[in-house]
Amino acid sequence: MGEKQVVVVGAGCAGLSATYTLKKAGVDVVALEASDRPGGRCWNMKRDGFLLPIGAGFTEMQWATTQKFVRELGLWNQAHELSTVRVAFWRDGRNYFLLKGTPLEMLKNIPEMLRFRGWPLKAYPQAVKLGLALRKYLRRINPVTEDLDPLLELGNVSSAQFALTRGGPEILDYLIAPFLGTMVLARPEEVTISHLIALAFFMSGVCVMEDGLGSINEGLYEKVKENVRLSTPVTEVVIEGKQVKGVETGEGFIEADQVICATDAVLARQLIPDLPDTMRKPLETCEYSSTYSYIFALEKKITPEKFLATIIPGSERSILTAIIETAGGAMKTAPEGAGLMYCFTAGWYDEELGQLSDDERRRRVIGEVRKFWPEFPAEPYFTECIRWDRAINLESPGQFPAIHDFLKNHTRDVKGLYLAGEYLFLIACTEGAYATGEKAANMVMEDL
Ligand SMILES: Cc1cc2nc3c(=O)[nH]c(=O)nc-3n(C[C@H](O)[C@H](O)[C@H](O)COP(=O)(O)OP(=O)(O)OC[C@H]3O[C@@H](n4cnc5c(N)ncnc54)[C@H](O)[C@@H]3O)c2cc1C
Repeated sequence: MGEKQVVVVGAGCAGLSATYTLKKAGVDVVALEASDRPGGRCWNMKRDGFLLPIGAGFTEMQWATTQKFVRELGLWNQAHELSTVRVAFWRDGRNYFLLKGTPLEMLKNIPEMLRFRGWPLKAYPQAVKLGLALRKYLRRINPVTEDLDPLLELGNVSSAQFALTRGGPEILDYLIAPFLGTMVLARPEEVTISHLIALAFFMSGVCVMEDGLGSINEGLYEKVKENVRLSTPVTEVVIEGKQVKGVETGEGFIEADQVICATDAVLARQLIPDLPDTMRKPLETCEYSSTYSYIFALEKKITPEKFLATIIPGSERSILTAIIETAGGAMKTAPEGAGLMYCFTAGWYDEELGQLSDDERRRRVIGEVRKFWPEFPAEPYFTECIRWDRAINLESPGQFPAIHDFLKNHTRDVKGLYLAGEYLFLIACTEGAYATGEKAANMVMEDL
């Protein structure tokens, strides 16, 4: 083992994953976190008996690293696959509900399904056409190796381009746009179709943690908190002659032979000014959605049982990309009978919304939620708003081929420097961060 401590920059999902993996293996490690709390874009906040998701709220239990951590942390009985979910499709000024559940539930729900008019008629044949086109690529992915290389040829194609040419405008508007709006808080032009196909390949359902998704990071942090220094921003990762020398912090220079940079891609570029082109250029392809994320606590739940989200078509020109319910069912996020809804503003309305005062913006957002949910109170019990300048990695056209090349050929171009974070995974999500954090830790151990 090396004599110097391994330094991890950032204690979000990727940084905590790396720190936990190294500590478990007996490696001397310290994580330096800029914020006064760990967790980054996935944490919990408590207020008045409610448990509020800060950032990520949903995952899937077939994700290998997430599942491993959940088991190791003793949280397995708190992970719940949502076998039944109800989704509202917004069309022509009203919600049409669709239920995905057990065969018996689906059977009981036939009348509602027959009344479903959430899509215009033209969308149905387009859905079949698009489904067949997507299936062609899905079948190329080897289910055992899960190698996503066959999707590389689509890495420069946007979801909008693909859905429009292989499906049609209605399916783009009523399915692809709202799906990406909900998953990545982005428009179909901004996200590559490879991302969407990879999502379709891996996605098996929705999984929640009883005490919020942040409880996984809380568990990881509990295991490594002696190794994490909060409120300690790194100002530079110092490289000399293609070799890491250490990190600069407000409290002085920390020498290190191994540094894992587990920030987002934009910050990684800023923190490591001397990155060689082979590492810098792929990072330059990484873009992010932005949002004001609003969390509303309601004294009384207004959404139907098992309700998950309102799907808003692109043509609605809403300032919101999605409205989600996180109270009820398996989640212990709100007192009995209370509601906890959150919604995300669309980044393309940032300029307009940014000019409003906090209260004006809150009222504007509440007004918009009431358009979809007239029962929503004009004054919720309380509101929390979190601004995310970089919410979720977009996987824009061009990123996948560039990152893929980096991962195949250039991860060790600077001796002792390792990158980790959601942006290195084709599907930007907490699993991407956990998996790449663990991988970086394993690379460190190989090199020690
Ligand atoms: C509103 C929202 C909703 C989301 N919903 C979901 C979801 O439902 N499911 C899902 O899977 N994913 C979701 N995501 C995405 C998910 O949260 C991220 O993919 C994941 O948390 C990224 O983890 P990370 O460790 O790569 O980055 P981050 O969480 O950004 O961690 C980076 C850490 O580095 C720290 N840092 C930054 N600069 C420095 C510095 N100079 N020195 C030291 N530390 C520094 C940061 O403070 C942060 O703690 C959502 C994200 C947002 C914002």
